[in-house]
Amino acid sequence: MSTKDYLEKDYYKTLGVAKTAKPAEVKTAYRKLARKYHPDSNQGDAKAEERFKEISEAYSVLSDEKRRKEYDEARSLFGGGFRVPTGSRPGGGGFNFDLGDLFGNTGDAGGGLGDLFGTVFNRGNRTTAQNRPRRGADVETETTLSFSDAIDGTTVGLRLTGEGPCPTCRGTGAKAGTVPRVCPVCAGTGQSSRNQGSFGISEPCKECRGRGLVVDDPCPACSGSGRAMSSRTIQSRIPAGVSDGQRIKIAGKGAPGERGGPPGDLFVRVHVKPHPVFGRSSDNLTVTVPVTFAELALGAEVKVPSHRGAPVTVRIPPGTPNGRTFRVPGKGVRRKDGTAGGLLVTVEVMVPKDLNTKARSAIEDLREATAGTDPREELLERAKETT
Ligand SMILES: [Zn+2]
Ligand SMILES: [Zn+2]
Repeated sequence: MSTKDYLEKDYYKTLGVAKTAKPAEVKTAYRKLARKYHPDSNQGDAKAEERFKEISEAYSVLSDEKRRKEYDEARSLFGGGFRVPTGSRPGGGGFNFDLGDLFGNTGDAGGGLGDLFGTVFNRGNRTTAQNRPRRGADVETETTLSFSDAIDGTTVGLRLTGEGPCPTCRGTGAKAGTVPRVCPVCAGTGQSSRNQGSFGISEPCKECRGRGLVVDDPCPACSGSGRAMSSRTIQSRIPAGVSDGQRIKIAGKGAPGERGGPPGDLFVRVHVKPHPVFGRSSDNLTVTVPVTFAELALGAEVKVPSHRGAPVTVRIPPGTPNGRTFRVPGKGVRRKDGTAGGLLVTVEVMVPKDLNTKARSAIEDLREATAGTDPREELLERAKETT
């Protein structure tokens, strides 16, 4: 038999033991099964023979502390869905049953499956860059909120597109049915060292681009890179009071880390749609309110709209200049501490296009009454002084 498909196999399941099983439990389970399916007591039974081989294969790995660790690491690294090509094992050919273990001797299985694991996956002991845990990348995204949602806070669905392990090959870069081969140039370290004078220089291996593995038969989905773009949607809380153009950090929602590294952060650029009536100035809301000349000149109490509330009354004192801004406290954007900014009300004189007869005659009377005052007189004088 060959060692093909062995990473796909669940050796723990084959032996009927838990992943946490102690060596003695593994041995007991193996012996019991191996006796039952041993070819000597199942002559001509092909199924029993196949089963016996599976059991032996599982045991040869799980009984060896080092190989078992490598097996566990390999499965956690590649998720277990990983195929080994026929005949890829160095030396090829048969599989070593250790009958010594079966019959109670403590023999060393030697050779066998562990070697392949050893060459391909025994890189965890070396401190190459690609074996260290790596923090996931930060991810940027954008969202557009309504004016009101930006003020009140809301939950939005964010579609995130990012690079992750290729789902077809589970990040190995190798075509289904094949595995990457340990890089012959750097022997899997991903680093190439050369001596320059008395200094040893270490740089990423050119053959495998620092990966430590080379792919002979690339995965068609990712062209052998092992990486793929994928998108996911997450629900995210946007806090109250964000403003247009603001960048919000959502910790831990970026790209997942590699080899147990922490995830990156997500940054959301917020766009806020304008409101037909209100504007924003930090914690304050702004509104421009049309008033008549008479209201500014004589004083008035005017009703102005507030955001998501009943209109509020603003008292305009007599003689208020056009363009003056009044502040209504507490009617602005809510802050984190529960207080709120103000509503900034700017008055703007509305000049009527059409006047009824009575209004026209009243304004004509006003013109007559104020004929003696030229509002530009002072301006003209000052202009002369400065030239
Ligand atoms: Zn290399
Ligand atoms: Zn792929």
